[in-house]
This record gives sequence, structure tokens and C-alpha cells, in this order.
Amino acid sequence: MLVSVVIPLYNEEENVEPLHERLKEVLDAAEFEYEIVYVDDGSTDGTLPLLETVQRSDRKVIVISLRRNFGQTAAFAAGFDFARGDIIVTMDGDLQNDPMDIPRVIKMMDSFDLVSGWRKKRKDPFFRRRLPSMIANFIISKVTGVNLHDYGCSLKAYKRDVIKNIRLYGEMHRFIPAVASWYGVRVGEIETTHHPRLRGKSKYGLSRTIKVVLDLITVKFLQSFSTKPIQFFGPMGLISGLLGFLILLYLSIEKLAYGANIGGRPMLLLGALLVIVGVQMIGMGLISEILVRVYHESQRKPIYVVKRIVGTEK
Ligand code: UDP
Ligand code: MG
Repeated sequence: MLVSVVIPLYNEEENVEPLHERLKEVLDAAEFEYEIVYVDDGSTDGTLPLLETVQRSDRKVIVISLRRNFGQTAAFAAGFDFARGDIIVTMDGDLQNDPMDIPRVIKMMDSFDLVSGWRKKRKDPFFRRRLPSMIANFIISKVTGVNLHDYGCSLKAYKRDVIKNIRLYGEMHRFIPAVASWYGVRVGEIETTHHPRLRGKSKYGLSRTIKVVLDLITVKFLQSFSTKPIQFFGPMGLISGLLGFLILLYLSIEKLAYGANIGGRPMLLLGALLVIVGVQMIGMGLISEILVRVYHESQRKPIYVVKRIVGTEK
């Protein structure tokens, strides 16, 4: 069994050497084969040359260097594309996750397809990091229906086929457990150690929370409606259109039967608006339906996920 450890690094020059040292210690003592995939996410400091030096002296290391800073999710995606392991473990490059946890996580993979770390005693500032993250985890768990304490923990492990079948966009690496679970993947959680950041600076602040919320909306929409978008837009369109129609009908009767002057009535504006919005919504639903078909048919991507097929081997 081969384990790939995928680690994104962006301007982590002070961390490269201690990180590699700690990793080696743990992985060399473990009973599985391993490779380490370092992804340099367009660092502008000495991270890349240091990684390349590490790589020269260690055959188990692969270094992928991205042309510019694409963000952590893209860096993970690059790592996944080049990782050859049967199990793929991810973690941060700043030693906030502890390499010591890797063997425990791998052990748990006997009974799960995906294991997510939980930084129970998280060593980050409370108001700027832990509180937003607690709220986010609560909302994400409620919305996705997949209950995890710590979606944001980078220390996670995936069976190969799980990760190879999921495409990542935006800030979405944190939602992989939710998406995977919808596909029927067995998701487990494990408490992991967390350290304060000793060297280098955190790359994130509060603004990430907004991105995460927007990504959550996307993920939820895709979960519920990605193969039937008209059922999302349709009802809104129909209700709006119908309401507008009734209002306009009422005004027309007033005008035609009673000769009322309806030119200055706010209801007229409202009715017209509702009809237009309704037509737009239904139009949007239909366009989305076409997009869904293009998406699935151009890639021959089925709308189901097969676990196993028995009886076609003759
Ligand atoms: N990172 C990256 N690209 C980015 C931002 C961050 O590869 O654009 C890496 C970073 O080098 C670190 C990991 O992602 O290894 C987590 O980043 P950070 O420690 O800043 O996040 P925090 O722990 O503060 O949430
Ligand atoms: Mg960190």
C-alpha cells in the first residue's frame, strides 16, 4: 500500500526544513510505503528552492511548482492529480497539523473511505479564527447534512478513487467530505493535534468566511438541483408569474369594466415586474437544463455513481 502525503505551501520558507524533518521521522517509522508531494503555490520567497533541495536528497519527494499563486484548493487539486498513492493524506505546510497523526489516520482508513481531522484543541486566535469557524462548521453541517466538527482541518485522508472522482473549484477543498458523503462514501472523523503557527504568517483572515459561505451555497445547489435545475427556478418563476398575472388581470378588469385610471397605480409596476421576473426565472431554469445536458453528455458523465458491478464478466 502506497500513501501519498500532499502538502500545499505558499511562502513557507521557514517551515520547509522542519516540516520535512518531522515528516520523515514519522513516515520512515511507519509500516506503509509513502511519497510526499509538495505543491509550491507560486511562492515568492525561498520556498521553492528549498523544496527542490529537499527533493534532490530524497527520492520519495515530488515537488510541483505552480506558475503563480492559485490558492490552497487549486494547490491541493494539483497534488491530487500527481499523487500515485492508494491513500492520499493532506495537511498544511506550516506544522500546525502534526505529522504524528498520520499513522493514526491511516489506520482509520481500514473502516472508512475518507477520514477528516478535528482540531479539538485548536491553537488559533478566538475571535478572528475559532469563532467564525465554529459558526461555519455548524452551518455547513446543517446545510449539507454531513455532521463534522471541523470542516476546515487540512489533515484528511482519502481513498484514491474518492479523490480522483471529485473536481475542485473555488475554496471547495473543505467541502470534499460533504460531496463525497452524498456519493455514498463512508466518512469518518478523528481528533487530531493542533499547534500554534510558530513560523511564517497565516495566509487568511476573516474574508475567507465570505468565500466559504458562497461556496457552500454553490455546493448545496449542486447537491440538490444539479441534474434538475428547472425544479429550483421553476417554482419561483411560476409563483412570481402567476401573482403578476393576477394583479394585471385585476387592473385590466378595473380599467375595462369600470374605466378606472390605472396609469399611476403602484400595483401596475409590481404586476409587470412579477411577470417579467417569472418569465426570466423559467427561462433561466430552461437554460440550466440545457447546460446540465451539455455537461453530462459532453463528458459522458452519468448522473449516478456505481459502486460495483457483478455478473458482466462472462
Ligand atoms: N496555502 C497555499 N496557498 C495559498 C494560501 C495558503 O498553498 O494561497 C497553504 C499554506 O502555505 C499552508 C496552508 O495552505 O501550508 C494553510 O494556510 P494557513 O496556515 O495560512 O491557513 P490557516 O492555518 O491560518 O487557516
Ligand atoms: Mg496554518
